[in-house]
Amino acid sequence: MSKIMATRAPKDANMRPGSKTIGVTQLTSIHGSPVTYVPYQPKRILNVHKHVDGGWFWTKYSAHPYVGCQEGCVYCYWRDEKYDMLARDPAAQQFLDPFSQYIKVKTNAAELLRNELSRVHKDVISVGDYQPAEARYGLSREMLKICAELGFPTLLLEKSPLVLRDLDVVSQINERSWACAIFSIVRADSEGYGEIFEPYAPRIEGRFRAMKKIADSGILTGTAFMPILPCICDDDSNLEAVVKKTARAYALPAFHKRRP
Ligand code: SF4
Repeated sequence: MSKIMATRAPKDANMRPGSKTIGVTQLTSIHGSPVTYVPYQPKRILNVHKHVDGGWFWTKYSAHPYVGCQEGCVYCYWRDEKYDMLARDPAAQQFLDPFSQYIKVKTNAAELLRNELSRVHKDVISVGDYQPAEARYGLSREMLKICAELGFPTLLLEKSPLVLRDLDVVSQINERSWACAIFSIVRADSEGYGEIFEPYAPRIEGRFRAMKKIADSGILTGTAFMPILPCICDDDSNLEAVVKKTARAYALPAFHKRRP
């Protein structure tokens, strides 16, 4: 998730009729379910948010390289018909769960991002998505390189430690402008929770370990404490445990810094 969960525009708001599809790869995921990658070339990638969400995510822009998410969280708001562009793609309908099994890949993501960022003023952008497709396509890394090159402050919101692969580029962004890599965590550990609510996402314990490595590298990091599911994550002992584990990673317990 790679991801701004509550404020960014629909993940594929820029998918347009006439976008080119250029090949399909069918695989079996490590969890045994079929997954299909559909590379294509949309015409636009940048979402411009009408209101910068000052107290929360700070982002003016977002851009993401994949449509659908193989991590398959059951509560993901992108599953809502309003956002889920795959719901309108007939080819996706053969899958039990199109959202996590039919992933569209924007192969021209970096090129589009360079073109579109060169036409807007500098402000914070949320980029990337480190779901399993990223290990194969590397598009988030290419997009981060564009942010580094053009000097855009960048925020990554993740569930996957795969983001550690690109710490070198995140550090370059941080040196030139500002970078922050935070993890979506709502329980102190995955036991009895992850299998049900985040079935294919990396386990929470791994997210805390990745957070510690990011903090050690001098990049701002922490926990995006959301969504706090009623009766599942909102008991005092869980809330306290998440804050303590975040603090132990030498990170920030939650969003509490001002927008850069
Ligand atoms: S990681 Fe989970 S919550 Fe985030 S986009 Fe993927 S499915 Fe949605």
